[in-house]
Amino acid sequence: MDKLYEGKAKILYTTDNPGVLLSHFKDDATAFNARKRGTIVGKGQINCSVSAHLFRLLEGAGVATHFIDQTAPDEMQVKTARILPLEVVVRNIAAGSLTQRTGLQSGTVLKHPLVEFFYKNDELGDPLVTTDHIELLELATPSQIQQLRELSLRVNSLLQRFFEQCGITLVDFKLEFGIDQTPGSSGGILLADEISPDTCRLWDSNSSDPQARVLDKDRFRLDLGGIEGAYQTVMERILAQPV
Ligand code: UDP
Repeated sequence: MDKLYEGKAKILYTTDNPGVLLSHFKDDATAFNARKRGTIVGKGQINCSVSAHLFRLLEGAGVATHFIDQTAPDEMQVKTARILPLEVVVRNIAAGSLTQRTGLQSGTVLKHPLVEFFYKNDELGDPLVTTDHIELLELATPSQIQQLRELSLRVNSLLQRFFEQCGITLVDFKLEFGIDQTPGSSGGILLADEISPDTCRLWDSNSSDPQARVLDKDRFRLDLGGIEGAYQTVMERILAQPV
């Protein structure tokens, strides 16, 4: 196995099969464009297991993902894909950068889900971009942008319903997509990366306390403590719901 790419939270390895990569989930945690760094013990296994479960849920509902199989607690096989340099954020409730950008109060329920695109570029600090920017920079075609928006909203409906059954409110989340590069594929769009407490804001539906209800990476970003316990709670509740 050769290392193909090492990111902040995962390492990708090639395998003997050109259509299959191995994704290893790390315990390393970063925030604020990697200016804050740390370790969340057990995060790799939790994020891998949560992502595998959610990818299975989405595949079962007809959303094409890169997920093939979970091969170890912190490892999954994924399809070879060319990742688009975009982060698609879907929001149901105002939090994080949306509150800073718009002045909306954290916790404000949005009338409709909001889709935002960010340009994946560490040097620029992953800026918010409009669809015109995306076309100008040729990060995706107009038809791909439309597909990303529709897919993301569909994923939001499916995840929102699922998380509700787990007693968790899905506040917002970030998705990444890739172009299928497995040999013989027709090059469709695949949902890629991960869906985990690192990439979603998840609030305990049974709590209204603004700090106690946080079950996601905001506990690390904002130094709220109890990170491992929160991630563990998310995993237990999610894995208890069959897909
Ligand atoms: N997010 C992510 N990776 C990033 C930036 C954001 O997974 O590089 C997720 C984040 O966890 C949250 C959502 O995207 O669930 C929206 O994040 P926001 O734009 O509010 O940025 P933040 O406040 O996290 O900097």
